[in-house]
Formats: sequence, structure tokens, C-alpha cells
Amino acid sequence: MRWSQMFIPTLREVPADAEAVSHRLMLRAGLIRQLGAGIYSKLPLAERVARKIEAIVREEMARIGAQEFRLPMLHPAEPWKESGRWDSVGEELFRLRDRKQSDMALAMTAEEIFTTLARDGLRSYRQLPQIWYQIGTKFRDEPRPKSGVLRGREFTMKDSYSFDADLAGLDVAFRKHAEAYRRIFSRCGVESIPVQASSGAMGGSESVEFMAVSDAGEDWIVTCPGCGYAANLEKAISQPSAVADPAATGALEKFPTPGVRTIDDLAKFAGGAPAERQIKTLVYVVDETLALFLLRGDHELNEVKLAEATGSARFRPAGPEECRAALGALPGSLGAVGVASIPIYADLALRGRREMTTGANQNEFHLRHVDVSRDLPDVKLADLRNARAGEACTHCGKSLETKKTIEIGHIFKLGLRYSEPMGARVLTAEGVEVPIVMGSYGLGIERIMAAAIEAHHDANGIVWPRAIAPFDVVISPVKASDPEQREKSEQLYAELAAAGFDVLLDDRDERPGVKFKDADLVGIPFRIVPGPRALAKGCVELAERATATVQELPLGEVVAELRRRSPG
Ligand code: ATP
Ligand code: MG
Repeated sequence: MRWSQMFIPTLREVPADAEAVSHRLMLRAGLIRQLGAGIYSKLPLAERVARKIEAIVREEMARIGAQEFRLPMLHPAEPWKESGRWDSVGEELFRLRDRKQSDMALAMTAEEIFTTLARDGLRSYRQLPQIWYQIGTKFRDEPRPKSGVLRGREFTMKDSYSFDADLAGLDVAFRKHAEAYRRIFSRCGVESIPVQASSGAMGGSESVEFMAVSDAGEDWIVTCPGCGYAANLEKAISQPSAVADPAATGALEKFPTPGVRTIDDLAKFAGGAPAERQIKTLVYVVDETLALFLLRGDHELNEVKLAEATGSARFRPAGPEECRAALGALPGSLGAVGVASIPIYADLALRGRREMTTGANQNEFHLRHVDVSRDLPDVKLADLRNARAGEACTHCGKSLETKKTIEIGHIFKLGLRYSEPMGARVLTAEGVEVPIVMGSYGLGIERIMAAAIEAHHDANGIVWPRAIAPFDVVISPVKASDPEQREKSEQLYAELAAAGFDVLLDDRDERPGVKFKDADLVGIPFRIVPGPRALAKGCVELAERATATVQELPLGEVVAELRRRSPG
């Protein structure tokens, strides 16, 4: 390709509303343009990168025996109703009506559609295992589309689905995917950490997310440098820092706390209590009913764990008036002591605690000398809190670390979640009909692209990992109109193309500084400069984007040298 004929609309200015580095660079380097909130056009450079990522995905899916499909993105509502997701998914699913007023949906994943194909086409255990996949557009009405293509409302996903006769088969398919994902991300130049993840309110037994460490991420993970334990914060567990309690608790005592609203206020209040001696009381409405959640003052509620403890995904924090109506006081003075007929959940870190302080359910009053076993006998104990950096690993005791990450892939044991309600069954060797055991596995093509940029860039622009770069090499003659430079550039261009490299010839009539800046911004791994001084010696300059090293080498050695430096 010739730069003069390509559409690469680079920008000098950083768009003000783009915060994530990858978002800024994708706009500046002419990879994407925004059409609407969370909706982006991929311009030719981005499309080239997407194709390379997809080619790697296809190779690795083929390696685990997966077969490629292409399913509709426009779905009738029926399969979604059969699985129950039409009602359970909520506003993330784009819904529409056709001219006959039939309910329709735009694909957000394809469990229902693949399950329909399995139900109609798989009869016997002999046809299993199967791994089916597609690379296609997905639509999600994300509440907060963000950071460019990292969280779009329309994006490209590789989604695969495994079908097995039993759980042992599912284990094999799951492990194959874990290995394929590890290879895909590493080939794309993105380091990934597999972490235990929450299976969500939809059930499923095991779920692993692949996370790329990045400030642009929206997920926190917890990792242990000692034993390798790694989990999404939604799911992570830890040993809370220990607090030594006295052997006994005094008698309950109500005391005035004027002006105290927060844990911090009470910690600073004369006669108050440090955060780890306080019980924090949070009020939620779960399935239309009020419930209390108690945590140590210095701990944070984890809503995914709340959902797991209550078995419901339909909850919201109660408003101040709802709190006052139910408990007699406003947030800041709430507590659970003496509360009857409201379900109370307490975090495990409160088990057996003595000499605690909590709200008295009277504005600006608290209770001291609270003994959890004595004064809160009817609470349900559950893991409700976020793990924190510095707390001890429950497996090995080492100090845990937290990292901000981008979720680039997710593999998930569905079990019978779809096959049972949708009636996808096979006959076993014994002639018994059993529901097919399924798994589902997703990864985002644009997420990988943006995560690669997050991990590989510098002050001058993108530094593409070799395997997914839009071009392998750009030839930038110092003066494109110079006959000798032009001739040598064309000759190199033809040689490199014939050798299988993706070459871009910067034939623009621009100053070298402009061309070099653009090449750096766009992030092409190698730049060849046939300049007058080098050509006089029969040489060209070869610059490597990642290392910023420049080397002079004879024209005849360029192809061999680039081959030598190519990934295996
Ligand atoms: P997130 O928690 O980030 O919303 P998710 O749990 O909804 O992700 P999955 O349903 O597991 O994601 O989708 C599989 C993969 O699809 C993700 O790992 C990610 O790579 C990609 N993906 C999901 N949502 C988006 C999006 N809005 N924009 C771009 N890629 C996405
Ligand atoms: Mg999501």
C-alpha cells in the first residue's frame, strides 16, 4: 500500500474527552472515528489490526478443534424467552419490534441460538464433544460506554460454545479454551492473568476471566505473589487484619454523638471508636424487601457478594426516608441491635466480635459495648466484603496485591443452564436422554486491540506488537520525488511484499520529520529510510519502533534482516 492513497487521518491534537491512552491514540493515529456513544467506525488501519487478531484467534480455535459458524445478529425473542433471559437480562439487551410487532433482539451473546442448533442437530453422545464458535458483532446497551472501543455498545466478539455429554467432558473443553486463550493473548502481545471470577446470578459453576493489567481498566483483581492465587475483586477472599478483642463486653450503652454521620466522624469523636471497632450498617432493598448488611467499619460492601448471599440480583441501596420509616433514624445513626423482622446479613469478619460500637437507630446516638454473639444473635453470616491489598492470602498467608485491569476474555462453565430449559438433550451409551453439558467462552477483538495499545505505547504513539501491527514495515524515503530514492524504495517495496511482509510505502511529498512522526504515531514496527547518504554506500537505514535503534545495512540484506527479527 502507498501512504498517499491510504485513508490515515492522523490528528495532532488530543481530543479533550478521550481519557484512556488507547482511546486517544486510536483517534490520533487515524484508527477509529466515533459515530455515537459507544459506537465506532474502524478505519483501514484498525481493520487491518482486527483481521490479524482474528487470524490468530482462528488458528488457535482450530488448534482445539473448534468449528466456525456465522450466526444472525438479529434474533427473534422466542429463544430468549425459552432460556428465561428475555426477562432476566434487563436493559443491556437491545430490543426492537419488526413490522409485524414481533419482539426481536440484537445479539449480545449467542447461547440461545447455538443451543437451538444443538437441540435440533445433536442426538447422541457419539456426536459429542463439539466446540462451535463465531467471530461476530455484538450489541450491548452498556450503561456507561467508555474509553473508546474498550467498552462499546457495538463490538466484535469471538464467542464459542462447548457441548459435552458429561461434566468431565466440560472440564476438558474448559481447559482447552484456557490454553487457547493463553496462546491468543500472548501471540497478540498482551500479557494476561487468568483470575477466578464470579459466575453471576445466572449460576454456572466455574468462571475464569483473563485480565490485562492497565490503568484504563475497570476491574480490580487480587493476586497473591506467594501461591499464585488470583481472583476478580468481585470474588476475591482474604484474611481480614486481626483485631484483638477484650475477653468480655460491658453492658450495652446508648450515648449521644452529635454531628457524627460517618465511620470517620465516629473514629474522631471523643468517646467514639476506631473504624475496626465499629459496625457499619447498610440498608438495601432486595427484591422489594428491606435488608441490613453489617460490616466492620473499615471494610467495604461487595455487591456481587451481596447478590450471592441473598440469591438475588435485584437490589438497590435504600433511600434515607426508607431507612427512617423502617428503623427510626437516618443513615449515620443506623444499627441492627434490637431490630426484628428485617433480614440481617453480617460479614464474616464480624463473627464473635466484642466491644463494638454501632448506630442506635436514633438520630445522633450510638451504642457501645456491642457483642456480636450476644446482641446480634439472629444475623446470617456471609462473606460480604471486598478483599484489600495488604491483607493475608487465605491459602498461604502472604500479603495480597491489587491491580487495575481490563477483562479481555472470559470462559464460563454453563452446565445445564441453557440445555435444560431449552430441551437440548442427547442419548447416552445406556440409551438415557440427558441434557447437554455446555460451556461458553468469549473474547473481545477490539478489547484486545485497545489493551495492546495500553500495554505498548510511548510519548510518540503506538508501538504495535509485531504480530498484530497493521503493517510490518514502512519505507520512508527522505525525499519521495528524488529519482534514486524512489527507485530504491519501489525495489525494496516489491522485494518485501514478495517475501510476505505487509509493507507501506510512504510516497507522500512531505518533509521527513512529518513522515517519521506519522510512522511513529501509527506504530509500525520497522521503518526503512532510503536516504541519500546511505544510498551512496548501497545501504538504507533500518529503525525499530520498539527500541528506537537505527542500523545501516546493505540494500540486499534488508529482507533477511527483517526475517531474522520476525516473531517465530
Ligand atoms: P464487562 O464486565 O467488561 O462488561 P462482560 O463480563 O460483560 O465484560 P462477557 O459477557 O464475558 O463480558 O463478554 C466476553 C468478552 O467480550 C469480554 O471478555 C470482553 O473482551 C468483550 N466485551 C464485553 N463487553 C464489551 C464491550 N462493551 N465492548 C467491547 N468488548 C466487550
Ligand atoms: Mg458487560
